[in-house]
Amino acid sequence: MPRKKVSVKAPLSSDLASVLVTPAAIKRRLKALGAKISKIYGKEEVTVVPIINGAIFFTADLLRHVHNPIRLDCVRIFSYRNSTKSHGKPKLLHSLTLDIKGKHVLVIDDILDTGKTLSAVVNLLKKQKPASLRTCVLLDKKVRREVDFEADFVGFEIPDKFVVGYGLDYAERYRGLPCIGVLKPEKQKLE
Ligand code: 5GP
Ligand code: MG
Ligand code: MG
Repeated sequence: MPRKKVSVKAPLSSDLASVLVTPAAIKRRLKALGAKISKIYGKEEVTVVPIINGAIFFTADLLRHVHNPIRLDCVRIFSYRNSTKSHGKPKLLHSLTLDIKGKHVLVIDDILDTGKTLSAVVNLLKKQKPASLRTCVLLDKKVRREVDFEADFVGFEIPDKFVVGYGLDYAERYRGLPCIGVLKPEKQKLE
């Protein structure tokens, strides 16, 4: 995806070296994704499972464009810790509270990177025998994949850069940025 020279006026936006996806592009893409998801599920109820914290912003905005009846239940995974590097196998810190047996499940994450997180979540949830299990991510860093995994719905394919904003964090910061951007190298030293 070509780099855009766009200035986004928001707190902490001056910490970005570049903006990869603008707020307007996110808005347009979510509308299209929501329509696609609504069409695939018809009138069926969908159990939406965001992986928190990263998927919170994306899920909330996407669901405004999904017209099915939904149930919502979050899972929490631990795999990154205050850095841009993965810390091995993802661990499930908070599991589902809803029964998903025989239900249509849509797992949502902010970004698909090595694929370890989503494939681990999908394998765990499949054991509960849902009627269907699909996945949706806002961002996809295809070149970084380490396990054979593709999402059913993808917002944007992005290059191999550590990105923040619109739910994605660096040391729990920057989630509130309205765009997706790359941090300036000197800002990647937070505790
Ligand atoms: P995976 O397990 O696919 O390697 O990584 C997925 C998880 O790693 C995402 O849910 C996200 O928490 C984190 N992650 C991967 N790439 C990035 C990135 O570029 N920026 C941020 N902020 N988090 C990332
Ligand atoms: Mg995550
Ligand atoms: Mg994170």
